[in-house]
Amino acid sequence: LVSRSRTTVDTVVSVKGIEIGGGKPIVVAGPCSVETPEQMEKVGAELQAQGILVMRGGAFKPRTSPYDFQGLGEPGLRMLKQIGQKYGMAVVSEIVSPNDVEMAIQYVDMIQVGARNMQNFELLKAVGSTRVPVLLKRGLSATIEELIYAAEYIASRGNEKIVLCERGIRTYEKATRNTLDISAVPILKQETHLPVLVDVTHSTGRKDIMTPVAKAALAVGADGVMVEVHPDPTVALSDAKQQMNFAEFESFMAELRQSHMIP
Ligand code: PEP
Ligand code: MN
Repeated sequence: LVSRSRTTVDTVVSVKGIEIGGGKPIVVAGPCSVETPEQMEKVGAELQAQGILVMRGGAFKPRTSPYDFQGLGEPGLRMLKQIGQKYGMAVVSEIVSPNDVEMAIQYVDMIQVGARNMQNFELLKAVGSTRVPVLLKRGLSATIEELIYAAEYIASRGNEKIVLCERGIRTYEKATRNTLDISAVPILKQETHLPVLVDVTHSTGRKDIMTPVAKAALAVGADGVMVEVHPDPTVALSDAKQQMNFAEFESFMAELRQSHMIP
């Protein structure tokens, strides 16, 4: 169903009226985790000022350590939705359990399936049974073919509103958090008809190379990029090192606009 052999027409996924894949690249931005109303209020105002249309924010965090902040859960989704409504943005958030899908769609405009759950087949079937757009991230050690099959799980349940996301894979290289597989973008565009985003934050884990990497992603045909932004990354409850502060985010956006990579 998701294969390019089915259609030459690129799929456009509409998230609350915002088109992903229509030829106008988008920037999905927001904090790693939803933390407090004050934090989200600041983020909402900043993102709106920067013209962001889709806001991200995690409420169910798949953390490596069980002792790390796990996210606010449903109250976090509620907060995300409130700020999204206030500032006129669609919202996307990760769900990790099939049991939470029905609850989550009351709050989010797009469900994120994270890298660690790309082959959580029960979750894929659950989101496939909804008609809510899905942002499907590539697994940490997943091949492109496995990512496409994961998308097929969702589509086979009747939900074809799928956006793929390259977010870096595990290699021996330690200079970046993961290795961004830039070739995955044109390959996914060639092998499927789905839109493709690149998460430049989780792939690189480095703020100092975010802008050139985002340009590269857009240059090879990505339909947009995802970045993490926090009012004060130094006190963030997750991914403190890699989130951009507002000044960094503003120069990131200005550079992409000046080079005409985003409208
Ligand atoms: C995220 O986007 O919040 C996240 C945890 O990313 P990934 O699943 O790609 O690691
Ligand atoms: Mn993160």
